Amino acid sequence: MNELQLSQLVMQRCDALGKISEEPNRLTRTFASSAMRRANKLVGSWMRAAGMQVREDAAFNLLGRWNSSHRAAKTFLLGSHLDTVRDAGKYDGPLGVLTAIAAVELLHKRGAKLPFNLEIVGFSDEEGVRYQTAYLGSNAFAGTLKSADLARIQEKQIVKARRRDEFLGYAEVHIEQGPVLEAKNLPVGVVTAIAGQSRIRVELHGVAGHAGTVPMDLRHDALAGAAELVLATERCGVTATVGKLEVAPGASNVIPGKAFLTLDVRHQSDARRLAAVKSLHAKTRNIATRRGLKLVWTPVQENGAVQCDKKLAQIFSKCVAQRGLDVLKLPSGAGHDGVVLSQICPVAMLFVRCKGGISHNPAESVKAADVRVAIEVLADFILKLAEL
Ligand SMILES: [Zn+2]
Repeated sequence: MNELQLSQLVMQRCDALGKISEEPNRLTRTFASSAMRRANKLVGSWMRAAGMQVREDAAFNLLGRWNSSHRAAKTFLLGSHLDTVRDAGKYDGPLGVLTAIAAVELLHKRGAKLPFNLEIVGFSDEEGVRYQTAYLGSNAFAGTLKSADLARIQEKQIVKARRRDEFLGYAEVHIEQGPVLEAKNLPVGVVTAIAGQSRIRVELHGVAGHAGTVPMDLRHDALAGAAELVLATERCGVTATVGKLEVAPGASNVIPGKAFLTLDVRHQSDARRLAAVKSLHAKTRNIATRRGLKLVWTPVQENGAVQCDKKLAQIFSKCVAQRGLDVLKLPSGAGHDGVVLSQICPVAMLFVRCKGGISHNPAESVKAADVRVAIEVLADFILKLAEL
């Protein structure tokens, strides 16, 4: 099969996999569901067709392996996730696994003999829909499961998925989930880092009152204070979002007495993210003081940024440039299994352009021509690694 046919095959496989769902009429495939088992069976059959040895580990991760003939060879990992959000698109996750399988087929076609084993992983839980805890599959694989996560899930056996091998690295192809590649008219981009994230719950307590009788200058309107915070967030200089805003009591003739907001702040530099959070906290304190509101500021989650391995990213860049394409380096605002894998080996990511930057949505769309570039770049990347 040539490169064009392989890219068409990946598109067909994304379509086929997109039909395996636990809900009728929309794509939802969560951790350990029967839909996931069926998906693993199908993708496993494709791995076998590419000459790989296939198994499912104790955490429902699907593993396809191509063993090197070299003695004591170490292993390089490729992959992405096979679980989805609710009402998902068909490329977020599966594209990375299916591109890796296609790259293996291409390497076989080129007669490649690798000095390392190649293992493709279809991780079972990146989105965290089932238990609201992301990365169960990769954490089980890496041996980095937290006891709090393990406590809330039924499948305690997933700890057995822990791998103790020494891995040379992990490379993942993923849709960009943003509009940058499309704006630059490029099929692929090399990821520099996965942004760190701070999540904060903010409460502003004012005084509810009659919308007709309390004069404007005597009000303690919690929502008006929240509105100032929303605008300050928009101008805070890093990627930051107020995604949720609730008002109490929430009636058209009552001054808002309470406002609850969620704040999500991300950046590839932890220092810049933490500085932005600190500055937003100070601004919110000022808003509250000026308006006579009580502020409750509760940090909910804090993840540091993960830098992609410079050497691996450079190899990806070379492979992209070899195709006559401009090399665009960009950070990932979204989390990925690489965040977890970075604790046990160097990680690298290649983004593929997606239409309108849309993801987590059935409207997700990628072009076969871009997928072809991703397959070629990934195969070249493996060959370059083999030369080192
Ligand atoms: Zn994903």
